[in-house]
Amino acid sequence: MAKKEQVIEKGFAYVRNAKIEYKFGAHVTTSKGIFNSVGHAMDIGANSFAMFLKSPRRWVSPALSDNDAARFKEMCQKYNFNPRTDVLPHGSYFINLANPDITKNKQSLDCFIDDLQRCEKLDIGLYNFHPGSSLGSDHQESLERLATNINTAIEKTKFVRIVVENMAGHGNLVGSTLDDLAEVLKQVKNKERLGFCIDTCHTFAAGYDIRDEKGWKKFWDEFDEKVGFEHLASLHLNDSKAPLGANRDLHQRIGWGFLGLECFRLLANDDRFKGIPLVLEVPDGGEKVTPYGDDIKLLEWLIGKKKDDSEVVAKTSQLQKLGENERKEQQTKYEKKQKKRRSSGADIASLMTKKRRKKTA
Ligand SMILES: [Zn+2]
Ligand SMILES: [Zn+2]
Repeated sequence: MAKKEQVIEKGFAYVRNAKIEYKFGAHVTTSKGIFNSVGHAMDIGANSFAMFLKSPRRWVSPALSDNDAARFKEMCQKYNFNPRTDVLPHGSYFINLANPDITKNKQSLDCFIDDLQRCEKLDIGLYNFHPGSSLGSDHQESLERLATNINTAIEKTKFVRIVVENMAGHGNLVGSTLDDLAEVLKQVKNKERLGFCIDTCHTFAAGYDIRDEKGWKKFWDEFDEKVGFEHLASLHLNDSKAPLGANRDLHQRIGWGFLGLECFRLLANDDRFKGIPLVLEVPDGGEKVTPYGDDIKLLEWLIGKKKDDSEVVAKTSQLQKLGENERKEQQTKYEKKQKKRRSSGADIASLMTKKRRKKTA
């Protein structure tokens, strides 16, 4: 057997609890073969997992071999993962289905359809990707391009559900508001093949304050009203290194960031989040998989816990301490940026007054 084809079989570092209905998992590596992602998921005690289908930073990758696909399915069966419901691959980063440039848009669509075909070859039922950027073009038209491409991709594939992730609101990104997601849903014809992935870090970065019960409920009520829980396909579970509304996509370990533990406790005690992939993308993932195992156990530990439970209170402050320096650092950066924005705004205002003065003079 060639070295790169060796199946990694070892004692697992964390014990998986498959009886838990919350499918806490993480983004795992596919190094030494896509089929080894299953073993990496077992190693961190995951009930679901995400991975890349090919190099996320290359347009064209070698085809997925029949042998690799068969071994992936075998491994899923062996370790009791249902690839239709428990695996959520992440699309290539540079896919931008909202791109106004016709050639680049077509290139994205080809790469996107290739990803979806790989999913179907692996019998995977869900596929998550970033909705892209308008690159400064009209926002509404960008959403239309995105939806049109999704419609085309659905026609060219059989069963895989296309899962659009919400974004952190940086620059010209589309899909950072619930209204954007609702607009995509409206324009996609086969709605059964469309789902949404809510990333807790992106949600917070985009300005939705989900830190406490009131804010958490408000967000999900609005989600249900505008999108609907039947279209919630998965969650990405990340704390945030940057403060509320900073539009920064900076993931942090659970409980270490500006979000804190409470929203994850609320999630771990809400039936609506059972049965779908709940995927961690916290720092130090990839090769060093250890943080994932700890964070999965932490999330499972929160099941059945009350907010005022003395252990929860102690854990909350213990984890906040671990992320204190990074929060301070990001808070300072955020304030500097705000100050700069304010002063440049003032400059424009004073410039305009000057102009006006000139005119009237
Ligand atoms: Zn994410
Ligand atoms: Zn992110």
